[in-house]
Amino acid sequence: SLVHLYFYTQTARTKFTPTFLLLGPSGAGKTSLVSLLQKRSSNPDDDEADAANTRISQVSSAVSLLLPPSVPLGSNKYRSENDASLKDKHPIPYSMIDTPGHGKLRAEAALSHIQNPALRGVIFVVDSSTLAPEDSASRDTAVYLHDTLLALQRRKSGAKTKTQIPVLIAANKQDLFTALPTGAVRERLQVEIERVRVSKSKGLSAVGEESGADAEEDVLGGGGEEKFSFKLMAEEYEISIDVVGGAVKGEEAGKGVKRWEEWIGSCI
Ligand code: GDP
Repeated sequence: SLVHLYFYTQTARTKFTPTFLLLGPSGAGKTSLVSLLQKRSSNPDDDEADAANTRISQVSSAVSLLLPPSVPLGSNKYRSENDASLKDKHPIPYSMIDTPGHGKLRAEAALSHIQNPALRGVIFVVDSSTLAPEDSASRDTAVYLHDTLLALQRRKSGAKTKTQIPVLIAANKQDLFTALPTGAVRERLQVEIERVRVSKSKGLSAVGEESGADAEEDVLGGGGEEKFSFKLMAEEYEISIDVVGGAVKGEEAGKGVKRWEEWIGSCI
């Protein structure tokens, strides 16, 4: 019944700590971002909190974090203002799964977490300074993002799991003068993903006749004529993709981190 479903959903939502999956190519700034969020967990008012030194991550690890009380939650959307005055608010615990960005470890280690029942969102970190068309890192980033979105698309169309997992693309390193601005990062990624999609679907049809039945599921955004766009993912699969710029380190360290936290809050 609906009532059952409601309680089931509520239990599922409260039983687990809201969990986010941190993805992106190595060097994008994932480890730096986690340590910045860790600092903000203990000192939410410190906008200047700089990320500690980073380590090389070879395995996935879950880090417990706290969302500053000032960050609004999606689940509180319909609450009236006086219902929750700021001083009564507690920091909200959440968890971040940090994953290795290296090619070989990537698929298995990182994308398996997409099945995690506690998962509320995927944060995909990109280095905005390596996305120029002639940069080989640009293609690498696009392939990884393509595979991530395809995994989310399959998760959704694979019935049973009803909740869609939204994606935040953190356009990091906005402090660098070689960085593409956020809007351009969005455009570049869509164009590069379309290229990946075209070359993969050529590969699929080359394999032979039997592709027919699953073809649509195996192609990002479905098998339609339309070019790939983030909007298409929202329309066809209800997967929302936001691109928000910022900087974890450098002269503008902490820039945009509040907006990233607000995105996290909106998923809780
Ligand atoms: P990961 O491999 O994705 O975990 O990336 P790291 O967090 O190890 O960061 C890779 C490098 O980029 C390190 O040298 C960081 O100091 C640097 N870095 C991370 N974020 C920023 C940023 O916003 N601006 C600048 N200029 N450098 C950054």
